Order: sequence, then C-alpha cells, then structure tokens
Amino acid sequence: MSNVCVIGGGPAGMMAAIAAADKGHSVVLLEKNEKLGKKLFITGKGRCNVTNGADVETLLSNVVTNKKFLYSAFYSFDNQALMDMIEKAGCPLKTERGERVFPVSDHSSDIIKAFERILSEKNVEVRLHTTVREIVTEGDKLIGVKAIKHNPNGTAGKIQLLRADAVIVCTGGVSYPLTGSTGDGYRFAYGTGHSLIKPRPSLVPFETRQKWVKDCMGLSLKNVSMKLVSGKKTVYDGFGEMLFTHFGISGPLVLSASAYYDPEKHKDAKAVIDLKPALSEEVLDKRILRDFDEQLNKSFANALGGLVPSSLIPVIADECGVSKEKKVHDITKEERKRLLYALKNLTLDITGSRGFEEAIITKGGISVKDIDPSTMESKHIKNLYFAGEVLDLDALTGGFNLQIAWSTGHAAGDAVR
Ligand SMILES: Cc1cc2nc3c(=O)[nH]c(=O)nc-3n(C[C@H](O)[C@H](O)[C@H](O)COP(=O)(O)OP(=O)(O)OC[C@H]3O[C@@H](n4cnc5c(N)ncnc54)[C@H](O)[C@@H]3O)c2cc1C
Repeated sequence: MSNVCVIGGGPAGMMAAIAAADKGHSVVLLEKNEKLGKKLFITGKGRCNVTNGADVETLLSNVVTNKKFLYSAFYSFDNQALMDMIEKAGCPLKTERGERVFPVSDHSSDIIKAFERILSEKNVEVRLHTTVREIVTEGDKLIGVKAIKHNPNGTAGKIQLLRADAVIVCTGGVSYPLTGSTGDGYRFAYGTGHSLIKPRPSLVPFETRQKWVKDCMGLSLKNVSMKLVSGKKTVYDGFGEMLFTHFGISGPLVLSASAYYDPEKHKDAKAVIDLKPALSEEVLDKRILRDFDEQLNKSFANALGGLVPSSLIPVIADECGVSKEKKVHDITKEERKRLLYALKNLTLDITGSRGFEEAIITKGGISVKDIDPSTMESKHIKNLYFAGEVLDLDALTGGFNLQIAWSTGHAAGDAVR
C-alpha cells in the first residue's frame, strides 16, 4: 500500500483519488479552495455536461489536440464506466441533443455530491484550504509535496512537508482562474524537468475589428456556416449557431472555431459567414430576383427584410455598397451580385480572443511527450503523475473535455503502484 497525494479537487483529481483508493492505497486529496469542484459547479451553465454518450471513436474524433495519446485512457475508463459510477452513487443522468449527458436534476451540484459520497466511502482524506507550493524531489526521486493550510480567517499557516510515495498533479489549466485553476501545475512540471506547450485560451469568443457588431449585439444566427480563414488556409469550417456581442462574436460555432485558432500563426484571421448555407449561389440569386420582382417600388433596405434579420440590414447594405434608400427597380445586376456575395461571405477580421478569463478551456500545457499515455506517469520522475486539463489535451464542447479529465484521472489513480 502506498501513500498517495493528489493535488487539485477538480474532476481529474477526484477521479484519480477514487481510482487510487480502489487499489487499496491511502489517499489524501489536497484542494486550495473551500470546496471541491468549483469549476465543475459552473460547467454546462450550472447543469454540468458531464460527458458525451457517443462511442469511444466519436469521443476521440472530438478531441482537438493529442487524440492518439488518449486512446488507452478513453478505452480503459470510458463514458459508460463514468455514467455507471455516477448513477450508482445516487445521481441519475439523462442524455440530450448531440448525446450530451447531464444530471436529471439539471444541477451540477448533484454531480459534485455524488463524487463527495464516493470519496467518503473510499476513505479518501480530503483537505480543503490547502495549497501545494512545491513538489519535493531528491534528484529524480519523489519525496512528497510542500503544502500550506489556510486558516478560516484567510491567513496562511505554516508550510508543511507531506511525504508521499506517489503524487498525482490535477491542478487544471489557467482558464476561469477565479475557480482555482491558476496554472500551478505548469510550475510544478517545469520545476521537475518537464516541457510545456505554451498555454492559450480555447473555446473562447472572438474580438473583431468591425465595430458594427455592437449594433447587432444579442442577435443570434441559427443554421449559418462559418469559415475561419488565415491567408489561403481554411483553419476551420463549421455549421451551427453564432451570436453577436459588444466586442465581436460568440456562440457554439465561434467557440469551436477558436479551438483551431492560434493568434501567433493566424494574425490575419477572418471569420467568413455564409448566411444562407442551404442555398447555392444560383438558387439564392433566383430567390433574390423573385423577392426583388415582388417589391420593385420598395427601398433596398425594406426588400432585404425577407433575407436577413433587421439589425443586419444596414451591415449588408454597407457591405455591398448600395444605399439603403435606393429603390429596388434601380438596383443593377452588378449590385445584385454584390448582395449575393455579401450574403454568402460576410467577413469579420479577428483581432484576438477574449482571453483566459472567458475561455472554457486552456489549450497547451504539459507536453504529453513527457508522459506515459497508459499510466499518466512522468517519464522523468517515477511515481509522479499528471492528469486532466494540466496536460496538453483539449477537445470541442459537448462533454468531451470533462471525459478527458475523468479518463486521465482514472488512468493515473489506477496506475499507482
Ligand atoms: C464556464 C465553463 C463551462 C464548462 N462546461 C463544460 C461542460 O459542460 N462539459 C465539459 O466537458 N467541460 C466543460 N468545461 C471544461 C471543464 O470544466 C474542464 O475541462 C475540467 O474542469 C478540467 O478538470 P481538471 O480536474 O483537470 O481541472 P479543474 O477543474 O480546473 O480543477 C483543478 C483543481 O485544482 C485546484 N488547484 C490548483 N492548483 C492547486 C494547488 N497548488 N494546490 C491545491 N489545489 C490546487 C483548483 O482549485 C481546482 O479545484 C467548462 C469550463 C468552464 C470554465
């Protein structure tokens, strides 16, 4: 039996602690916050999209970075194993559109309570208000961690050395730092000889150069397609729903596009929106002609009413360089062609993303080249493990990121000797 120290009481840490305790080890779970799962609590808009019910191959196809690394962890502890564990702990689950799995109660707190019950059943010792400062090693031998317990009045106590036979680092990334994920694990990894892939925000809204987005704030476009283009390269091409905000664009389609956006590489990135993806240029042109024929004496702006939402009318008129007041019967063939182009290619210049404060996940992190994919153990220091978002792994929305945390956390806890 080993003494195991798990750092971080998020999904990866709770799962790692449970899996290690299942193997008969004595486990301490250290969490700096006043409660477990502070980020888990806000997931899925407070409903927690705890995983995705699709088959493992589909789960893997939604992983954006280092999917091969996840094969073993996903197959060893898959979404079904997770769902069984949660339901057995008294939290029934349901599956919604896109195979997204939620608690029946729609309360993320019920998922956290289920995990608290399992941790308690398995005799995991949970220490809250406890921040790990350092991983202690002698050469390449792991000794334990240095941690500090905060007093209830907020003052810090003494730094203590906690000796451990194995340490599992599950400190998350750096997005939504108020939840406790402040990148400490990167420091621990770097300090013990591991390499880091530069962290950057992902699943995050975009800021745009065009200021008109502010006039369309709150407008949501359903069933549009969007390409993210940089130079001649299409970095992302998707279909779905997007939203205009006071700073730029957001919504599911934009968050997915951001998973492929690298601000250093894609300095000239543009979002090209097709407002009518179901209609070919030919069919759309016929539709415009028909609309125009029926409204020859109306203004251009009025005639656009059947084609685009009202707040987009001035934007489209500007894009095709036609006065809103111009009568439809005066519109030239050339101007109609420009309208067609604007409807199929509404273009926004991306000036950046909203950053870590608003990013659902962190891309980058500890290089998986330094980690054994079936055990999550460091290739440099024996008995030191890493799991969850702290690793250079990320996926699209739909429950896939949490499944990464559950599966890698389980792999690490289960592998402790
Ligand atoms: C708004 C929002 C909504 C989301 N919704 C979903 C969703 O519905 N479905 C989905 O799949 N994913 C979702 N995600 C992503 C998902 O929450 C993360 O991928 C997941 O929480 C990562 O788990 P983790 O255990 O690796 O890290 P975290 O959840 O970040 O947990 C890390 C823990 O470690 C603790 N910690 C850090 N440093 C120390 C230290 N030095 N000492 C002690 N403790 C420490 C932190 O306090 C924290 O509790 C969402 C994220 C956000 C921000």
